[in-house]
Amino acid sequence: MTKEHGTLHVVATPIGNLGDVSQRMRETLAAADVIACEDTRHTRKLLSHMNIRAKLVSCRRENEQEQAATLVARLLAGEDVAFVSDAGTPGLSDPGAAVVRAARAAGLSVLPVAGPSALATALSVAGLDSTSFYFGGFPAAKPSTRRKQFAALKLLPCPLVFYEAPHRIEAALEDCLEVFGDRPAQVFRELTKLHEEHLSGLLSELLAALRGRAKGEMVLIVTGCEPATGEKEKPDNLDELILWHREQGSSLKDAARQIAADLDLPKSQVYQQALKLWSA
Ligand code: SAM
Repeated sequence: MTKEHGTLHVVATPIGNLGDVSQRMRETLAAADVIACEDTRHTRKLLSHMNIRAKLVSCRRENEQEQAATLVARLLAGEDVAFVSDAGTPGLSDPGAAVVRAARAAGLSVLPVAGPSALATALSVAGLDSTSFYFGGFPAAKPSTRRKQFAALKLLPCPLVFYEAPHRIEAALEDCLEVFGDRPAQVFRELTKLHEEHLSGLLSELLAALRGRAKGEMVLIVTGCEPATGEKEKPDNLDELILWHREQGSSLKDAARQIAADLDLPKSQVYQQALKLWSA
């Protein structure tokens, strides 16, 4: 890479509070020849707060692949490019990865300007041991796919962190409750903003609290699986799982539904097998 080439700066921006604008973010955006962003009107507002006039190009999920080539051409021609998303850290449940990949493949310099992210912000005030955690991004919109995603996480012992949209949070909480059982969880709403809110309780309590009044941006954290001492470890094959659920006191119907979701098998097949083994 030669000096005549520009640098791609991947710049994190506030998740709601303009007081979180950093000196480095301001300097990087002011110095860039062009700023690639998701929604130009949204980023224009942020820039006008910082008194920065800049050339903006739109780079959204839908055009990120094509824009990656255009931005690399600009970088090769010596322009410095700053990449931002609407809020938070680019590339984290946001566009950014395709442009970074293309720039790296062309041997160009890629530098992060670290800053806010809803994920780290929520974990920082969750008071949980997050030595390790699972980040699921946005759960699938389709209920059956979402339940399968959750079922695959059921035995993870670490906090499970999700982004969720207000119009889907109730459905997501209902599925969490069905798949994980009534575990402790937390919802962080409008972090760093004027109407910031923190809800903590069992999944059923959060569901009751948010029913019909879910607004704003949210991070959901569900506590990980806590194996009860002395409890027999959950097996992972059909027959043993059926017997394990029977030992746990589940009903045959609940067991069949849960196992079908866990093993991704047709419910009728699991039910037939459970019928054979249940009273054996
Ligand atoms: N790249 C961003 C980041 O670093 O956090 C995330 C972008 S993702 C498209 C947007 C989601 O992040 C929202 O739907 C919400 O789940 C979460 N989020 C963003 N800002 C938030 C805030 N101020 N409070 C709570 N959640 C927020």
